[in-house]
Amino acid sequence: MSSLRQSALEQVIKGHEDKKVSHYNGKRITAIFNSHVFTERLMREYLSDEAYKSLMNSRKNGTKVERRVADQIASGMKAWAEERGVTHYTHWFQPLTGTTAEKHDSFFTIKSDGTAIELFDGDTLIQQEPDASSFPNGGIRATFEARGYTAWDPSSPAFIMESGFGKTLCIPTIFIAYNGESLDYKAPLIKSAAALDKAAVDVCHYFDKNVSKVNVTLGWEQEYFLVDEAIANARPDLVMCGRTLVGHPPAKGQQLDDHYFGSIPDRVFAFMQDYEQEAYKLGIPLRTRHNEVAPSQFECAPIFEEVNIAVDHNTLLMDIMSKVAKRHKLMVLLHEKPFAGVNGSGKHNNWSLSTDTGVNLLSPGKTPRTNLMFLTFFVNAIKAVHDYADLLRGAIASASNDHRLGANEAPPAIISVYLGKYLSEVLDEVETRVNDNFTEQDEVLLKLDIHKHIPEVLMDNTDRNRTSPFAFTGNKFEFRAVGSSANCASPMTVLNTMMAETLKQFKKDVDSLIEKGDKKEVAIMHVLRKYITTSKKIRFEGDNYSDEWAAEAKKRGLSNFKTTPEALDVFVSKMAKDLFTSNGIYSERELDARHEIMLEDYVKKVQIEARIIGNLATNHILPAAVKYQNILMENVKSLKDLGIDETGYKAQLNLVKVIGKHIQSLNDNVEAMIAARKVANNETDMHKRADLYCNTIKNLFEEIRYPADKLELIVDNSLWPLPTYHEMLYFG
Ligand code: ADP
Ligand code: MG
Repeated sequence: MSSLRQSALEQVIKGHEDKKVSHYNGKRITAIFNSHVFTERLMREYLSDEAYKSLMNSRKNGTKVERRVADQIASGMKAWAEERGVTHYTHWFQPLTGTTAEKHDSFFTIKSDGTAIELFDGDTLIQQEPDASSFPNGGIRATFEARGYTAWDPSSPAFIMESGFGKTLCIPTIFIAYNGESLDYKAPLIKSAAALDKAAVDVCHYFDKNVSKVNVTLGWEQEYFLVDEAIANARPDLVMCGRTLVGHPPAKGQQLDDHYFGSIPDRVFAFMQDYEQEAYKLGIPLRTRHNEVAPSQFECAPIFEEVNIAVDHNTLLMDIMSKVAKRHKLMVLLHEKPFAGVNGSGKHNNWSLSTDTGVNLLSPGKTPRTNLMFLTFFVNAIKAVHDYADLLRGAIASASNDHRLGANEAPPAIISVYLGKYLSEVLDEVETRVNDNFTEQDEVLLKLDIHKHIPEVLMDNTDRNRTSPFAFTGNKFEFRAVGSSANCASPMTVLNTMMAETLKQFKKDVDSLIEKGDKKEVAIMHVLRKYITTSKKIRFEGDNYSDEWAAEAKKRGLSNFKTTPEALDVFVSKMAKDLFTSNGIYSERELDARHEIMLEDYVKKVQIEARIIGNLATNHILPAAVKYQNILMENVKSLKDLGIDETGYKAQLNLVKVIGKHIQSLNDNVEAMIAARKVANNETDMHKRADLYCNTIKNLFEEIRYPADKLELIVDNSLWPLPTYHEMLYFG
């Protein structure tokens, strides 16, 4: 048996020594929650009145912190951190590589007279210049101006990251170029939340003048797979690409439906408790854990938070999970589709808006007046998705998510909205009853009617559609097409911006009717009616996985971008440029740069997969097949030498031929793929190159996989070099 696979299996069979994890030490979660975070309570404790007030103001209203005050804040933070054994600090940011980045510096420094001191001042807190020319920038930073800055984001609290015996103070930051153009996920996200805040507050004022801030809320649900680390390490494709490129599906997949919500294995449970504990220390409010549909697939979800914090917490958690998994000799797979033939992983983004007066704007109210407010935000959200569906699709496009969308386990690439029976009826009612003769008297009636239709508690699990990409779930929308490895900031930025734009337009439309003499409520109902009518085609209540829906959606004129390169085009459309520039989220240059970066990322990911599948075929699978073929040939020869006639070795002879056929096919397809790669790599236009990777090279993966998986079924198991699906999904 091949050494890596063999030793991996031996390790698993021997069993891993269970790591002694202090599982909460019997403490309540509240006792460790936020213990590594510079919370508002600690800010109060460690900062002067002036510094505290300035920081609070900045956190709430986005005002700038003065340099002098920043010094005070930095010294308070340092004092807090040093008391907890911290020696280093880092600006923590989320570049467009899709991971988090950090560069550690120590507080330690030497003064001009040679005295050694510990120092952390306002300048260091506010801004750093990481030597970051190698982060993706889509041409924004030519090398001569290759300066990128990380700038402190006071709205997300600083935290202490523990790693081994080291402790580091992490300052959440945004990452921007020398001229202010954003180079990360967070800067645009923060801008989009601010744009939506402003637009939503303006609309709230029709109903409640006391609202002065609207927060975007996000609750994500993170799915992932776990594989024994030794087994995973014997699979170059898992290590390098996060997914298997070859491998025959196991006899038992998820067909028995016995994994979802099943009992959690002890080893996995220990891992979950361990990473949850780390997460609680950092203030990540995890709430839910359970098995998912596929074997070895699991999910966790926190209590929702303000969107910027929620995004930080999700990226932080992905990082923590990967690190903690190592302690348990496990590997976490965050890839959208690690295994063919079993479900992939997503990251549902639950999105809503809440006011500083404590109202969830997407939660049906108890009175006709609050219901009209609900209806306003609800209908505007539907219209936003209708108008900008292609952007929403573009925001979740990635090489890895392509394997999941539309694969009958996740929403299709067609964006639609699911409302549920009650609310569909309400909208239909508004549509038929609010006509040109609609008057104030009707209005009272109608409002009451609406109220009657919206039950107080709508969160009825039976009225849910699990196949919809964008579903209303009673008090929030759930965007289900987001990939498990994605940074939620990308879809959230798009969603916030399109909602901001729609609400701005809504206010204009209502105001112009009011100017013409309509009473406020009448004007609102008229505009809502118009929006309901014009955005009707985006509503779909049926089975999104069905072929009928694809046909119906086509008839309705809805887009269906199946692959990333075509889905990304929307970011350089006039629609996107108008939307993002007018709301101050991205300049045209930033959009072009992002488009370029995303295409490049796509190409690189597929390119790496192409290399790895080529290696697997040529250096792992082919030699094993040849070895086994030789054994068979020896056998046939010996039998023949003994004078046995052909009936005595027919099966072996046949196998020799079949193996030969598969080897030939494997080899031919790898060669074809290498040739296609050469053509693609010579293509200088990034879009055309991405198309080639998407439409020729990637298609050859299946052609290579087919003979490879057939050989896996034929070749002597003890000669097979790669851990099998069954070993990855069911061992350990
Ligand atoms: P499920 O969708 O599995 O039935 P829930 O409805 O309880 O579960 O919530 C799923 C996720 O939605 C959780 O992460 C939760 O925090 C989040 N969520 C609940 N309310 C809101 C809200 N108002 N805004 C954003 N996310 C929310
Ligand atoms: Mg959900």
